Amino acid sequence: MRPTGRLHLGHYHGVLKNWLTLQHEYDCFFFVADWHALTTHYEDPQHVQQHMLDMVIDWLAVGVNPGSSTIFIQSRVPEHAELHLLLSMMTPLSWLERVPTYKDQQEKLREKDLSTYGFLGYPLLQSADILAYRAGSVPVGADQEAHVEITREIARRFNHLYGREPGFEVNAELAIKKMGRKQGEIYRKLRKTYLEKGDDEALETAKALLKEQNNITLGDRERLFGYLEGTGKVILPEPQALMTPHAKMPGLDGQKMSKSYNNTISLRESTDDVDAKIRKMPTDPARIRRNDPGDPQKCPVWQFHKLYSDQQRQDWVQNGCTTAGIGCLDCKKPLIEAVQAELEPIRIEALELENNHDVVKSIITEGCEKARDEAQDTLKEVRDAMGLHY
Ligand code: SF4
Repeated sequence: MRPTGRLHLGHYHGVLKNWLTLQHEYDCFFFVADWHALTTHYEDPQHVQQHMLDMVIDWLAVGVNPGSSTIFIQSRVPEHAELHLLLSMMTPLSWLERVPTYKDQQEKLREKDLSTYGFLGYPLLQSADILAYRAGSVPVGADQEAHVEITREIARRFNHLYGREPGFEVNAELAIKKMGRKQGEIYRKLRKTYLEKGDDEALETAKALLKEQNNITLGDRERLFGYLEGTGKVILPEPQALMTPHAKMPGLDGQKMSKSYNNTISLRESTDDVDAKIRKMPTDPARIRRNDPGDPQKCPVWQFHKLYSDQQRQDWVQNGCTTAGIGCLDCKKPLIEAVQAELEPIRIEALELENNHDVVKSIITEGCEKARDEAQDTLKEVRDAMGLHY
């Protein structure tokens, strides 16, 4: 997540609640993408540090648990940058140019000059972020699916370029050792076929050679084929997009909740401000007077009820609104209570963490070390595969 500072209910319902579930199902890595922030805000980096700290406090306050997940800062694991650079050498420019968000974002952020090398390369940096941990799954929304797809293509290309020969040799040797006969001769034949014709034919030759070995049972033969089929050594596994359900949290005005629309309720909003903000929410413009009936479909307050209220309360809103049986303030009251109840424990926890920055910093440091160990293992394999071990 980019360091955007204090988070709001949109982040909570759209992303964080999902993280809370995932952290018990997977070995999760959650990180502050501070370098990504620079791809669009390179002129203005001085807020990143405070934003980063505020964001991590909010993660922890909602229940992201450093005991069951790894929380870290991207720039504290320089292996992301090294992998990004190495991958950039073999990534066709056209792959980056056709990422849908590249043009979209340039259109949306017209006031910024985004014709930079860093901005074009940011999906590749994301690929490095994922591949550095050899992640199996990446939780994304539909708009990010293309980024996982390009990561898969890049991993495939890397494995194709650098994973073949050592993989073949290791696997072929393993298979032939299992056969226990004519090792040298068979291996030489295979190796020759492999070098001359590539691995598809080498595989066929290997299969034919294996079939000639009549001391091998059918079951063993299948198993050996399996070893050989693994000739393309996977150094960087292809990740899957984990399309996870998440609730869309509308903003106070019914548009998407976003700081840029000034329609948010932050996770650390004071009780008075929550109260005032919900009271001031616009309603169906047709309800000018208390006894004008309204239509919940035209009211942002109804969107909140869909998220916070049970069926019984939703029926009460529908009936009350369309018959002018309830006033808009009556309608908002249970919502104020529900949002306050949701935010209360988060507020308390965040306050505790705000007063204990050292605790937050040590959680981050520990997470960075753990993440770095993991990324260093991957980079070692990557350098070895590319022959950069001198
Ligand atoms: Fe909106 Fe509720 Fe007022 Fe109807 S009664 S207009 S749903 S706030």
